[in-house]
Amino acid sequence: MNIRSVIFIVLHICFAGKMLQAQNTYKRSDVLSRQLLQYDVNLYGLDLNLTNQSNYISGSGTIKATVTASKMDTFAFELHQNLIIDSIYINAKKYLVSSSRTNGEVQVKLQNALTKNDAIKAVIYYHGNPPATVNTWKLGLINEVDPKYGVKITHSLSVPYSAYEWWPCKQVITDLADSTNFYFTVDTSLEVASNGKIMSVRRNNKDSFKSHIWQYKSKNAINYYLVSVAVADFKENKYFLVETGKPSVFFQDYIYETPKADNDGKNVETVSKDVMRNHRDLFGNYPFEKYGIVSVPLSGGMEHQTMSAIGDITDKYLLAHEMAHQWWGDNVSLVSFRDMWLNEGFAKYAEYLTAEKLYPADAPGMMQNNHTNAMSKFGGSVYVSDTLVFDNLYDGRLVYLKGAAIIHTLRFLVNDDAKFFGALKSYQQKFSGKNVRLQDFKNTMETETGVNLDVFLRQWYYGQGYPTFALTWNQKDGVLKMRSIQTTSTTVTKVFKTPLELLVKRTEGDTIIKVFQDTNTNYFYVPIPGTVTGITIDPNNWILNKIKPVVHDINLSVPKSKKSSGYNFRIYPNPTQQKLYIDMPENALGLINEKLKIEITQLDGKVCLQQDFSFPKTELDITFLAAGIYFLSIKGENVNFREKVVKD
Ligand SMILES: [Zn+2]
Repeated sequence: MNIRSVIFIVLHICFAGKMLQAQNTYKRSDVLSRQLLQYDVNLYGLDLNLTNQSNYISGSGTIKATVTASKMDTFAFELHQNLIIDSIYINAKKYLVSSSRTNGEVQVKLQNALTKNDAIKAVIYYHGNPPATVNTWKLGLINEVDPKYGVKITHSLSVPYSAYEWWPCKQVITDLADSTNFYFTVDTSLEVASNGKIMSVRRNNKDSFKSHIWQYKSKNAINYYLVSVAVADFKENKYFLVETGKPSVFFQDYIYETPKADNDGKNVETVSKDVMRNHRDLFGNYPFEKYGIVSVPLSGGMEHQTMSAIGDITDKYLLAHEMAHQWWGDNVSLVSFRDMWLNEGFAKYAEYLTAEKLYPADAPGMMQNNHTNAMSKFGGSVYVSDTLVFDNLYDGRLVYLKGAAIIHTLRFLVNDDAKFFGALKSYQQKFSGKNVRLQDFKNTMETETGVNLDVFLRQWYYGQGYPTFALTWNQKDGVLKMRSIQTTSTTVTKVFKTPLELLVKRTEGDTIIKVFQDTNTNYFYVPIPGTVTGITIDPNNWILNKIKPVVHDINLSVPKSKKSSGYNFRIYPNPTQQKLYIDMPENALGLINEKLKIEITQLDGKVCLQQDFSFPKTELDITFLAAGIYFLSIKGENVNFREKVVKD
């Protein structure tokens, strides 16, 4: 989902007041919650009559499921009390439900209790008007005139807990339906956009062919909140993305049939193909049977599976955002909305990736804008602690903007795009059609990239705020001395341990070096030839940060004991039986011209192996050594590093 105006969200939070806040929450009874967990949904079916004149709805919803509890004597589901249930058939037996309900919880006492692995087929016949929108969120099933195009439309927004406002379902995100089969009957002047592939559009002989019936079907797993429908006078546009060596992607867009919409939508096909090409290069093959967009009067968009709802069809980054969700949120679902970052952070970052590849002039400004907005307040975490308050789930500043910024940071930490995007692809492939926890993402990234995410997540994801750097420097005898003092915007995260890029301006030409800040005050001592004239901190906006003016202090002295503090070579695996790898430290680019000697010695000082260090990584074969403890040292003009290694 994307809300285009961050400022609007902020205002909404500030002025909406308590009542609106209360409406923006969702709560169901513990009893129903337990009953919903007694079965696993296999299929959602809909057979609905819809119009664009009102949000009146009639027809049926089908839930096919398998009992997971040892005994189930009540079949429960959710359907808003505005909708009148005419009858329910469960495994072909008819049940009557009281026509007046006080809430959306429906519990049907079964004539015969079911047991584990039994199949259930429930068909719920109902009719009525879903609740009209109560606030700025156009939730449920809304009928309105699109103010921009003057087109009458009925469209759904089921996220995060409004599916039950228009169809019978189980709003539990961990229970993906394995497939869907939808029939929508509408007037022949109207078109229907929904999930999956169109199987048929046929004239309805039951009403003298005044209406037609659209069948949409999908064999892909789907979350309840991604089920959608939009009904209006649309113009269909079908096309393919064909690339050698890759599966073709079929597109089917529905844009209002008006001259203005036609004109606004003239670039949609080109943009969609370009973005699809880039997204699948970065995230892996497109996961579904088709992709499409449909015009709707939303101020943003929504990633309905295989059919994104788009407010502004001229906004290429909105198109990129919702398409990215087909991977981030749709192909891979969440176990809990707490980890909304895995949906919205990545969809937001996909906007940046789109700029980086397709519209590179936009990219730096976009990331700068993310940073400025993310740091417009001191605190707040990307992690969502209360998932029942909508404004937390869709917090533009934290989940989206800070969320996207820290993915950029993660890419910086991995420091290898092939590995970073390779890991994203593995994750998408491994968890396709499944629900994930943050831990699943963490494990995959760590395995694929070799980078430990503990500190990253602790400070940037669960932690709060951002660092501010105050850098003082001096250059003497070809050595750049720096003191970096880091303060943080909240006391929740007291220090951000992070690599930091510094653009060193020299009369001989600028160069970028990397240092690693691991305490509030760090000294760095980097041999740099030429004459340094200034330093820019984090020129590529890899990490959220503010800076104080960089100071050139000719009296800056660096304590002797701190000289080599930053040079932490990474030795791994340790212990080992054969190969030992040594990675250059993050802050040692200035060492590239220095000759470094590696030595492995026994505890008594006897030298067993000598080798030159080759940048940026050296491999040692210690198969020949007897099992035991050794010292590995790396020495050079500015380096004196020693670490214990264990030969298994
Ligand atoms: Zn989104």
